[in-house]
Amino acid sequence: MSMRILVVGGGPAGLFFSLLAQRAVPSATVHVREQNPPGVTYGWGVAFSESAAAALRPAAPDVVDALTAGMSHEQMVLGLDGTGVPVNVGRSHLNARWSLLASLERIAREAGVDVEHATAAEPTEEELDEWDLVVGADGVNSRTRKRFAEHLAPHEEPGTNWLAWYGTPKPFPPSIILRNSDHGLLMSHASQFSDAMSNFTVEVGQETFDRLGFAGMTEDESRALCEELFAEDLDGAPLRSNHSPWFRTTFLRCAHWTHRNLVLIGDALHTVHPSIGSGTRFAMRDAVYLTEALAGSGWDVEVGLKEFERTRKPVADAFQAAAKRSIDWYEGLPGRTITHPTKFAIEYLMRTGRVSYREFRRHNRDVVLGYERDLR
Ligand SMILES: Cc1cc2nc3c(=O)[nH]c(=O)nc-3n(C[C@H](O)[C@H](O)[C@H](O)COP(=O)(O)OP(=O)(O)OC[C@H]3O[C@@H](n4cnc5c(N)ncnc54)[C@H](O)[C@@H]3O)c2cc1C
Repeated sequence: MSMRILVVGGGPAGLFFSLLAQRAVPSATVHVREQNPPGVTYGWGVAFSESAAAALRPAAPDVVDALTAGMSHEQMVLGLDGTGVPVNVGRSHLNARWSLLASLERIAREAGVDVEHATAAEPTEEELDEWDLVVGADGVNSRTRKRFAEHLAPHEEPGTNWLAWYGTPKPFPPSIILRNSDHGLLMSHASQFSDAMSNFTVEVGQETFDRLGFAGMTEDESRALCEELFAEDLDGAPLRSNHSPWFRTTFLRCAHWTHRNLVLIGDALHTVHPSIGSGTRFAMRDAVYLTEALAGSGWDVEVGLKEFERTRKPVADAFQAAAKRSIDWYEGLPGRTITHPTKFAIEYLMRTGRVSYREFRRHNRDVVLGYERDLR
């Protein structure tokens, strides 16, 4: 009898795994259950670095071609109170989240994957018996993880900053925008991801969140106030919502990745942080490792799942450690006084420990020479 695989969640992790599994075992039944109707998702644009594209290309070149066909940028602007410092950061590709999912779903369906929309799933022990493999790819609030928590032992660290993910029609190069205000530090991450739209994520510390009274506001009132607070940066352009409530990030790890024939992947299993712009790639890499581990075991699920954890965990742990340094740096910002835009730019790019001062200097000679002159 041919293999039967259930995937809970049609995000980047679930769809990419489904596609890779279906291509590896064309006779398998690969069924995705996604709670949202087609075309409905949260958020706006997601960035995909050139290194992410290179890492995923061997697994599915056609998917990478689709995800790198649109908007791309080479530079980033670090802005402090209206002064912007452009820095070279390497190419990144951007896609609207809904287009990225539509491309992945189209390619997965063409391979034979069955995608069922508007169906919220929460697998039970009995349901695990009905499938050869169940993959929980249902995102950071995963119901699958919660149901099997006693076996998977998740550990969640809530962030201290508050974020809201808006869009705006004003075109922004990838930008980090900081504004010192009477209410405390206001932060935004903006980037154009299509001809018509940019992301505009707003982030504030708890004190600023309380002072501005965001907790008592509707989503629309918060959006309108953020528009006012960032009026100079937005040049009068509006902010738009797409399921954009305030949220705090969750830094998540699971002590165990599997239970019987169930495995978690993507944000359901472990998270990074929006500030490193790599959650999609991180989730899709899980899909690659899982498929390779299963294929290497001849699709023996018990052996393949153990191999997945053995091979993927050290790499994922190192990536999460870099993300944690980024989280700590961002969450420390509201308690500090930031006055020099170039110092801020240099700090920003070195925050994860993956870029040294020397490397930054090599790619941004003029920026650094100007800063070093200022220090003399
Ligand atoms: C503000 C912000 C900005 C970001 N920017 C970037 C960026 O620039 N670049 C980047 O790479 N990443 C970015 N990310 C991270 C990225 O969005 C996630 O890491 C990535 O989407 C994780 O993929 P996933 O498939 O694991 O989970 P998700 O994308 O969350 O997908 C999970 C899917 O499961 C579905 N689902 C949930 N529960 C159920 C259920 N019970 N039954 C059925 N379906 C269910 C959901 O509807 C969803 O479609 C950002 C995140 C945030 C919050």
